[in-house]
Amino acid sequence: MKMTNLKQFEVWFITGSQHLYGPETLKKVAAHSQEIAKAFNAAPAIPVKVVFKPVLTTPDAVTALCQEANNAPRCIGLITWCHTFSPSKMWINGLKQLRKPVAHLHTQFNRDIPWSSIDMDFMNLNQAAHGDREHGFIWSRMRMNRKVVVGFWQEKSVQEKLGVWCRAAAAWQDWQGAKFARFGDNMREVAVTEGDKVAAQFKFGYAVNGYGVGDLVKSVNSVSPKAIDKLVQEYADTYQMAADLRPGGARHDSVREAARIELGLRTFLKAGDFKGFTTTFEDLHGLAQLPGISAQRLMADGFGFGAEGDWKTAALLRAMKVMASGLPGGTSFMEDYTYHLDPKGKKVLGAHMLEICPSIADGKPSLQVHPLGIGGKADPARLVFSTPAGPALNASLIDVGNRFRLLVNEVDVVKPDQPMPKLPVAQAVWKCRPDFETACACWIYGGGAHHTGFSQALTAEHLEDFAEIADLEYLLIGKDASVSGFKKELRSNEVYYALNNGLGI
Ligand code: MN
Repeated sequence: MKMTNLKQFEVWFITGSQHLYGPETLKKVAAHSQEIAKAFNAAPAIPVKVVFKPVLTTPDAVTALCQEANNAPRCIGLITWCHTFSPSKMWINGLKQLRKPVAHLHTQFNRDIPWSSIDMDFMNLNQAAHGDREHGFIWSRMRMNRKVVVGFWQEKSVQEKLGVWCRAAAAWQDWQGAKFARFGDNMREVAVTEGDKVAAQFKFGYAVNGYGVGDLVKSVNSVSPKAIDKLVQEYADTYQMAADLRPGGARHDSVREAARIELGLRTFLKAGDFKGFTTTFEDLHGLAQLPGISAQRLMADGFGFGAEGDWKTAALLRAMKVMASGLPGGTSFMEDYTYHLDPKGKKVLGAHMLEICPSIADGKPSLQVHPLGIGGKADPARLVFSTPAGPALNASLIDVGNRFRLLVNEVDVVKPDQPMPKLPVAQAVWKCRPDFETACACWIYGGGAHHTGFSQALTAEHLEDFAEIADLEYLLIGKDASVSGFKKELRSNEVYYALNNGLGI
């Protein structure tokens, strides 16, 4: 598996109208809609195919379209727009059945009012100002999630907002029927990495199933020496490697063993059509090393990963990888590891024992072999690198009992104050928004995990759109966050979800 090609997905451009205005007007409506759909399909900001669908003018047509969308595997969502007035009772039966994400575009075909020539024909053709209000009402009345995008359709910011939503819809589609493999169980006694896998499958569409690490060992042990030679050569061509790790070197065998594990993992994941996996250092029976470089390189190829059995982060990371496909900047599994509490600039050093994705590497990673203090296994091979400065975010998906919660903290990656030559793992150093104290207090009040999906490609808008589609509780800790405001949001959400979910998910 390589990065997801988002052009395989379609978003359908849907226009609502009715027969009140006569066939001539409807013809123009269709022509205008086609022009907009064509422009969106060609827009660099919109990464998926945009497909024009005939203008909907009757309840039966709306219902048929919604059913068609549900059954079309390439269709990841609808962009709806009411160019003219589309009475919304026409939409009720269709929307009741619709199971695809929706972005409601509130735009107008003509940008400007032609002041000197405006007449009723112009008014009838450019009435989204009230047509889309009727359309918005029915979504709100039916308590249905959607993204509302407002502005002139040719504006870059409008196309960018739709593009962000398309990415979120693609990640949602990718989750439907996805499989994640959990080698071993959870790290013993750890709470936040646990969760209700049945609820997750019901709500999110992906399955998480456990496998004995022996199943993986079998795959690892059947790797051919020739395949190992080839992969080790690829390592040597791709990464910096010390002489004693190269063929003939004293510790070359550690690298070969790591390559064997990578090949075994890849074979296992491919055979089961898995989109991600978890490992746990407490259950590595028969594996010589904790998977390090293998987890790193599999992440770089788009697989989700969670350490210590953290399947929620593995699935979230996979979704983030799909959303980020083709965007500049990387996306990785991450852990808040240690702090720099200097009052002149408080910072977080994010890392993990080994498993950070080289998509966030600043330059060529270095392949190193060092002892690992835990797990009692042979010294594992890992890629070591730092992360370029710039805006980023950390996202955490947790199970709070009656719902799942997505927390996002916007951060700014900074250059470390000094080189860290003795640190044997990949790392990123960042400053939290709005500040260290507020961000960490909000995160901790919100129950956010120590594991996250970290991204320099995505913005909070991607995660918010994804949460809207997935019907997830979404909490942003950004530049405007305050602890007291955040506590109030948590408390009001408790009431909202208690009422909204009834007996729970
Ligand atoms: Mn961890």
